[in-house]
Amino acid sequence: MKILVAVKRVVDYNIKVRIRPDGSDVDIEGVKMGINPFDENAIEEALRLKEKGKATEIVAVSLGSSVNQDVLRHSLAMGVDRAILLETDAILQPLGVAKLLKAIVAREQPDLIILGKQAIDDDAGQAGQMLAALLGYPQGTFASTLQVEGNEIVVTREVDGGTETLALSLPAVVTADLRLNEPRFVKLPNLMMARKKPIETINASELGIDLEPRLKLLKVSEPTARKAGIKVGSVEELINKLRAHEGILL
Ligand code: AMP
Repeated sequence: MKILVAVKRVVDYNIKVRIRPDGSDVDIEGVKMGINPFDENAIEEALRLKEKGKATEIVAVSLGSSVNQDVLRHSLAMGVDRAILLETDAILQPLGVAKLLKAIVAREQPDLIILGKQAIDDDAGQAGQMLAALLGYPQGTFASTLQVEGNEIVVTREVDGGTETLALSLPAVVTADLRLNEPRFVKLPNLMMARKKPIETINASELGIDLEPRLKLLKVSEPTARKAGIKVGSVEELINKLRAHEGILL
């Protein structure tokens, strides 16, 4: 089984981003970037399938400018076999991502495509679903377990009030939840070795795909600040305050 994993370069999850003074977007100038955390889960799952003898090759792909090489090097250091940079300076929205990934699927013919369930920068959670729809493949989104059973994969997903288990025929698209696994720690020697590995670069403009954004970002604003809390002196005082609060019956 050949697996394709999509990895996005996003602002590091520890960083609190600032909004530009004109509210036109967030300011990511000079900010630490890294691999989207859910995409690390996607890579980890692919690696585990290979270690169990279920997968033969893992290819990581990232879409964006040449700076995305760092997340591909991270993927190689984790253990993927090959890395592809689909280079573009276009502003990518989930539909554009899905269309570009579809072109890579046509070239690589993977049996399984694993994406993150969402990118932590735009929180769209759409690329996997759109890709499955464009390819006409079955999809198992927000996967918290994944097993290969013959020519099928069985995916457990967390849904409201419980879990849902789906069997998907291959080829299929899966999006990874954080619960799927704990990604391995990347050791420094592996990172050093990954620096020497080749990254195949494809110019996205050669694919002739319409990447015109369908969405327009109107404004970015801070969430309304929470009012400061107060300290109460005793449980009794707390209960009296709650009683006095409209709508609370104790
Ligand atoms: P989104 O729909 O934007 O929340 O992204 C969902 C998933 O699509 C991510 O976790 C990645 O696996 C994949 N993805 C989105 N954008 C890119 C990108 N520029 N390059 C590679 N993969 C991407």
